[in-house]
Amino acid sequence: MKTDVLIIGAGGAGLMAAIAAKEAGVDVLVLTKEYPTRSQTCMAQGGINAALGNVDEDSVEDHIKNTLKSAHGLADEAAVEFMCSQAIDAIEYLDSIGVCFSRTEDGKIAQRRLGGASAPRACYAQDYTGLKILHTLYDRCNALGVRFVSDSFLLELLKDEDGKACGAKVLYLRSSEVKTYLAKAVVLATGGYSRIYDKYSTNSKASSGDGIAAALRAGVKLKDMEFVQFHPTGLKNSSILISESARGEGGYLLNSKGERFTNELAPRDEVSRAIDAQIKKGEDIFLDIRHLGEQFIDEGLPQERKLAKLYENVDPVHDLIPIKPVAHYTMGGVAVDNHLQTNIIGLFACGECANHSVHGANRLGGNSLLEIVVFGREAGKNAALHVTQTDKIGLPQQQGCFLEQKFSNEIDFYVKKEELGRVLYEKVGIVRKTSQMQEALKMIQTLKKQLPQMGWSDNSLVYNTNKQEFLEFRNILEVSEVMVQSALDRKESCGAHYVEVE
Ligand SMILES: Cc1cc2nc3c(=O)[nH]c(=O)nc-3n(C[C@H](O)[C@H](O)[C@H](O)COP(=O)(O)OP(=O)(O)OC[C@H]3O[C@@H](n4cnc5c(N)ncnc54)[C@H](O)[C@@H]3O)c2cc1C
Repeated sequence: MKTDVLIIGAGGAGLMAAIAAKEAGVDVLVLTKEYPTRSQTCMAQGGINAALGNVDEDSVEDHIKNTLKSAHGLADEAAVEFMCSQAIDAIEYLDSIGVCFSRTEDGKIAQRRLGGASAPRACYAQDYTGLKILHTLYDRCNALGVRFVSDSFLLELLKDEDGKACGAKVLYLRSSEVKTYLAKAVVLATGGYSRIYDKYSTNSKASSGDGIAAALRAGVKLKDMEFVQFHPTGLKNSSILISESARGEGGYLLNSKGERFTNELAPRDEVSRAIDAQIKKGEDIFLDIRHLGEQFIDEGLPQERKLAKLYENVDPVHDLIPIKPVAHYTMGGVAVDNHLQTNIIGLFACGECANHSVHGANRLGGNSLLEIVVFGREAGKNAALHVTQTDKIGLPQQQGCFLEQKFSNEIDFYVKKEELGRVLYEKVGIVRKTSQMQEALKMIQTLKKQLPQMGWSDNSLVYNTNKQEFLEFRNILEVSEVMVQSALDRKESCGAHYVEVE
């Protein structure tokens, strides 16, 4: 199958890229392993940043300043300036296509303060912001005639004989067929890798770093892989996120003695470390939003109340919410230039799988939904431009298929996956020690060697989730190895990468 622009991933970034490319007049096909409306973007709750100044005074300059401060000197100033200065236009665009943002009493888009922001800057749709954005973008794609093939699992990125991107090989999950898609430009938009921490993550199972692993195998450069953001308030037992908007609206963090112990609205790395230090002293930690009142909670944080009741069996209107910090967002990813192109000509990347050099060592809440809209659009436009400058699709280089290898299925990879998640959380988590990171690396390398002794036991051809999960585990191992090696290589503490001297 052939197209002009092949987009892999249908989260906010992939859909924005699809809209921009289609509006530029080229043929666009989107492949995704899950149904587009289920992409992880739908889980974003708190909001999307833009210095609209609708609630309090704000400016693009302050947005830039806050973003750079949180990045600990590792962001590219020009990229941050570009993202923040495009933010107001991005919100106006989302508003114009029907995203139902919450409103102030005088009808303006409502805004709330998230950690590290000097003003209420996050525009929101109650606490369903990502869901409303994702579904509206999907409607827009359908109205424009973007083609989708869901249940398509990216196996490998394809390069032609000149080393340029020319498509992708995917496993079609509905039938287990391996299919080849050829294109003049490819956009990778496959999301982050927080699920390498398995159950210690707020993320959906889909965030297994598949696109980043495929990029790595194709020789694409990665950047900042050691920077993993731990969100302070995952629910204690399930790791499901209680949004930062709960603290933004005035929630407190308390220890078992009922004491507040940190500035709740400091950047996430600082709050997570403060909680970690309390937990290591034997304290249990709670989020307290009882003082906000039932009406306020039901209007502004309805999803948080439902999640706490359902998964922690507490009602935040009357009870404290038990929490712990868990892996939430991965700053690292595929390195891109300011045209969103990787080191492979014709391969673009955007969204959480990419490193746009805007988050540095620590992302500000509300800046990720912004990056997927702003950089997703740019990736789509630039991919379309690349198509107009490319006369034909090159022939793909021959390569073997991982699925054709022999697997003996002696070792249960599910057990190993869970074990790895725990080891990464404990040894390459919020506070890191060199000796512990080395232990984790050794474990990953052993698991990689053992991969042929794993494999799938279910041989059904239709929706074989066992096979899919094995493929995800392979990617998890490859991405974890790079993450831990990068963490070992960075000797100094910086934002989310905090090293304790032994
Ligand atoms: C609980 C939660 C709350 C959040 N809240 C906020 C917030 O309030 N504000 C904010 O700015 N950010 C927030 N974030 C972060 C933000 O939601 C994400 O960074 C962003 O949505 C990522 O978008 P994306 O398009 O890059 O990736 P995703 O939305 O993760 O989409 C990835 C796509 O790639 C596809 N894919 C993956 N692997 C493959 C494969 N092998 N083959 C084919 N397709 C594949 C998936 O099916 C999916 O369609 C939150 C994150 C979480 C988890």
